[in-house]
Amino acid sequence: MNSRLPDWLKKRVPSPETVALVERMMRESHLHTVCESARCPNLGECWSKKTATFMILGDICTRNCGFCAIKVGRPLQVDPEEPRRLAETAKAMGLKHVVVTSVARDDLPDEGAGHFANTIRALREVIPGVIVEVLTPDFKGKVWCIRQVVEAKPDIYNHNIETVERLSPMVRPQAKYRRTLEVLRTVKRLDPSIHTKSGLMLGLGETHEEVVQTLRDLREVGVSAVTIGQYLRPTTTRHLPVVEYVHPDRFAEYERIGKEMGFLFVASAPFVRSSYNAQAFSEQLLAE
Ligand code: SF4
Ligand code: SF4
Repeated sequence: MNSRLPDWLKKRVPSPETVALVERMMRESHLHTVCESARCPNLGECWSKKTATFMILGDICTRNCGFCAIKVGRPLQVDPEEPRRLAETAKAMGLKHVVVTSVARDDLPDEGAGHFANTIRALREVIPGVIVEVLTPDFKGKVWCIRQVVEAKPDIYNHNIETVERLSPMVRPQAKYRRTLEVLRTVKRLDPSIHTKSGLMLGLGETHEEVVQTLRDLREVGVSAVTIGQYLRPTTTRHLPVVEYVHPDRFAEYERIGKEMGFLFVASAPFVRSSYNAQAFSEQLLAE
């Protein structure tokens, strides 16, 4: 596939001052963001609005998904002070909707679920009224781990399906399409008041019918918000090639289809990522 990007994937350059300010805050508080680690194309835009997605449990992942720019290898020790520092930093940034994700920690007995729960509690203590969105790994489907996070009461529980069922083994070999659906179903079963959210990337070779089926599967397990964006290859050596740059009109069509299926919130456009414009969903929920 020609590596030249189509016009709709060319992005404006952000305000360097704001990006530098957020970078400095992260370094000083020894925190990581998925924005930097995953080389997100929206970094300038989000950070200019002082929005960032915190990444807990270190910046080294125990898995090796074919699309992801995050470092892989032997993970770092869990830092018990991280939840508090994260909450204080989010407060200093003036955030009202905080998104917290992590690398996969297959090395930990609880998969990192306890650390997620501590982070949610710290945020609630430090920022009254905060909306907390977690974007978790699959915890290998362990219900007792999912329960730990659910019992800490995030407002939104996000877990990405990433791609259609046929491509799942190639795109994320250590995860499973059906297990992801089961994680999302379990969250709703344990606490129906939590909104569940998921996301997928297009451009990896999926068909229209497969995307629609994936949306149906997500609705079937009670997911209420979905994000759909274009896959962009982080490196030409280690990562899966882009099969197609999907036209914005097709993204708009999936948005229409998703809304017709009953999702409360659908964000579907080439630059959409799971946490892109995340506060728009919480504002919608609060307005209901
Ligand atoms: Fe960070 Fe999410 Fe924005 Fe990307 S879309 S820069 S990961 S907050
Ligand atoms: Fe990246 Fe998550 Fe896969 Fe780890 S599990 S490689 S962080 S997508």
